[in-house]
Amino acid sequence: MSIRAPKGTSDILPGSVEAWQYIEGIYRETAALFGFDEIRIPTFEYTELFSRGIGDSTDVVEKQMYTFEDFGGRSLTLRPEGTAGVVRAYLEKKLYAGVIPSKYWYDLSCFRYENTQAGRYREFHQFGAEVIASHDMLADMEVIWLADTFLRKVGVSQLSLRINSIGCPKCRPAYREALRAFLAPKYDELCDTCKGRYDRNPLRILDCKSPIDQELVKGAPLMIDYLCDECKDDFAALKANLADVGVAYEVDPMIVRGLDYYTKTAFEFVSERIGAQGTVCGGGRYDHLMLEIGGEDIPGVGYGLGKERLLLEIAASGGDLPGTRERTAQLVFVDAAQKAPALKVLSELREAGIEADIDTSARSMKAQFKHADRTGARFCIVVGGDEVATGTVTLKDMVSGEQQRIDRKDAAAKIKGCPSEG
Ligand code: ATP
Ligand code: MG
Repeated sequence: MSIRAPKGTSDILPGSVEAWQYIEGIYRETAALFGFDEIRIPTFEYTELFSRGIGDSTDVVEKQMYTFEDFGGRSLTLRPEGTAGVVRAYLEKKLYAGVIPSKYWYDLSCFRYENTQAGRYREFHQFGAEVIASHDMLADMEVIWLADTFLRKVGVSQLSLRINSIGCPKCRPAYREALRAFLAPKYDELCDTCKGRYDRNPLRILDCKSPIDQELVKGAPLMIDYLCDECKDDFAALKANLADVGVAYEVDPMIVRGLDYYTKTAFEFVSERIGAQGTVCGGGRYDHLMLEIGGEDIPGVGYGLGKERLLLEIAASGGDLPGTRERTAQLVFVDAAQKAPALKVLSELREAGIEADIDTSARSMKAQFKHADRTGARFCIVVGGDEVATGTVTLKDMVSGEQQRIDRKDAAAKIKGCPSEG
């Protein structure tokens, strides 16, 4: 067939979907443990939400959005991230009239037109969390603590948590000028993207992935040396809070994050193992995002955690991920006359909560056994003429090859009582 999946997308097939279900289950449980509620938002939004929220001069908005006009002539964009949609919902549905601060978690797909490579795709998936309507650094601690706990639960404990403060509208302008002054003599050597950033948003140059630019910014003035008293106090409070709950971090003054809406706290969980796409989780505080998109002036803090990168990291660190699902039982009927009684047994097993299957192509008994082998069924339950006449079934252990005739009514209990074969 000549039609292929679009570049940068993946099919998550049986055999790998189990690993996804595993991390999704742990994320849901951990977020609930921390008092977060799930929120689900639309896959597309009006384009304006992202251009105003994320910032016109960011890579995401400038070069990466999947934007289209619908038949009604409205400009829509597939969400490139989750935060903007969550705060849009928060403001539109006046969730601030309920419990505040509010804590939300999500699990969603994102879309960005990227140069695809390992760990960088055009459709990818994120877990996220947001604490909305608290100015206190307890909120920042809470989201970082959640991410850290979750990462440890899925067996990823070797990521380094790097934190920084990127200041606020009070202290950032002076820093921006200092950074421009430092970079002015090197301007001609900057990459074309960073030449553009120089005027509009020089902080982003610190985040450039080009090795030449990374060299050029060495020795640049640092935002943490320019923080106003409030930002300084908040950064100290965050560090103290993290220490109080035993979350290890290092201060990395070069972290600036790729979206414009961040203020004060910026953080990343970074892997040394998966190369240039090493940031598994990134987030920060966004005190003016809601005002920016035309809502109330309500602060927030949150993160996005890339599921593909997390799975790469778990695999790279030799972690255990579940593979193909084990099957418990498959019904085998000897010939067509036993089809109906076999279906009855199948129904009884399923009612009893036993994972039971049947070869739905109604092939010969031999082919049914082969099918059981290929699906990895632990037991076959054979129903033939004798079995029907005596109210029994033959239970075949597919691992040991042993088989025994048992009362049909005991089948479920018998299967439940057998230890599963790892
Ligand atoms: P990067 O600097 O690697 O481009 P980013 O700063 O653009 O990342 P965020 O917008 O903060 O990333 O998204 C949060 C997380 O989502 C990232 O840390 C990463 O794990 C994941 N992520 C971002 N873009 C992609 C992508 N194109 N493919 C896969 N995962 C991604
Ligand atoms: Mg990016």
